[in-house]
Amino acid sequence: MTDFKRKKFGVISLGCDKNRVDTEKLLSLIKSEGCTLTDDVTEANILIVNTCAFLNESRKEAIETVLDGASYKSANLEKLVVCGCLPQKYVGELYDSLSEADVFLGTNDYDKFFEALEKSYSGERVNFVGLGDNTFNTNRVVTTPCHYAYLKIADGCNNFCTYCLIPKIRGRYVSYPMEQLLKEAEDLGDVSELILVAQDVSRYGIDIYGKKFLVNFLKKLTTLVNINSVRLLYCYPDMIDDELIAEIRDNPKIIKYLDIPLQHSESRVLKLMNRRGTREEYLELIKKLKDAIPVIAIRSTFISGFPGETEQEFEGTCDFLKQAKLVNCGFFAYSREPDTPAYKMPGQINYAVKKRRVKKLYEVQREISYGFLSSFVGKSVKVLCDGIDYDKGCFVGRAYFSAPEIDGKVYFNANSAVQGEYYDVIITSCDSYDMFGQMEDFENE
Ligand code: SF4
Repeated sequence: MTDFKRKKFGVISLGCDKNRVDTEKLLSLIKSEGCTLTDDVTEANILIVNTCAFLNESRKEAIETVLDGASYKSANLEKLVVCGCLPQKYVGELYDSLSEADVFLGTNDYDKFFEALEKSYSGERVNFVGLGDNTFNTNRVVTTPCHYAYLKIADGCNNFCTYCLIPKIRGRYVSYPMEQLLKEAEDLGDVSELILVAQDVSRYGIDIYGKKFLVNFLKKLTTLVNINSVRLLYCYPDMIDDELIAEIRDNPKIIKYLDIPLQHSESRVLKLMNRRGTREEYLELIKKLKDAIPVIAIRSTFISGFPGETEQEFEGTCDFLKQAKLVNCGFFAYSREPDTPAYKMPGQINYAVKKRRVKKLYEVQREISYGFLSSFVGKSVKVLCDGIDYDKGCFVGRAYFSAPEIDGKVYFNANSAVQGEYYDVIITSCDSYDMFGQMEDFENE
């Protein structure tokens, strides 16, 4: 038997916040066995790469990271473990071609981690993809700054958008039981901001409770005294109903922010994407949200250059942005992913056109965001301090309308500020993404 307590474990987590939560659970499993974790990959005896395979670029990044990791084998590294989305979907191709890796585990196989590793130490290359049963602990070694954390409430997706590989990698939507999630949230300790994530947060509960259960869950979650506020990411537009809107409006612990990835505005393209909803319905939803909650900050993402998207439809999205006036938006060029229905669609658009369209969408949104942010100049805004920005020589934080890692920041001067605390910051200027200011009692020496 290998004495794993004598080994050092390093982890590189790639991809999204949902993958990050899986990594945090794996770290907890390793720690619970009394093993040592290290931040320094050159020190690790066992290096784990938790991969993303959503897009061609993420697969490339994952493979490059594994190859980089393998280069440490001459020093301390003994075993290289590749887990998550990439082996889940592609282990058939990878097992022979990525000979640098010693162990492969899929997205539901973390419970087999030590068994697979033991087998590898006995001299075999190990493919355990599909052998786990997802009986994965809920404890976490949180890797975000200590005042905010993600809570992954479900895995998989039932939406089958024609450009997306996720349902083929992660399988159908599976909600995690509410009691388990409440315990996980409680075990996180004091959290200023808890961010709910899943491929589709708004679908929570249908598979296990027979009806939408997000509002019930939010009501329970926000009774936890250690959770100061809750932010919702990734809500599917047609799942946002009156009950959810009322809960966001009336529950003081829910941040008045909603991430609704719309992906496109034009009805014909939405249909090709297999997205439910139309341009009119999306505009109606946005109006409804703003009427019910005037301060609501809506974030969204859009794909440009989907097969067959005409110049007119692209202009339609620019026009939609001007009408919808969303606070934060991300834009992506359509990525042609093998094994998705959109891959075979006619009218694939060349790279240069896609890039031009994305650039233009950013230009349109920049003006809208600047208009929104500049309305705060001269005013006091409540800011959650995320820490110090050493390059800029000031504190950095976020207003309620910004989620960490994806939205803009507030850079501010203050005599002192503590990470995880809220402060009133007078905004003195902004650009189209960030705001700049100072705390009310700041004395410039
Ligand atoms: S909602 Fe669509 S884009 Fe999002 S994960 Fe599901 S299939 Fe993919």
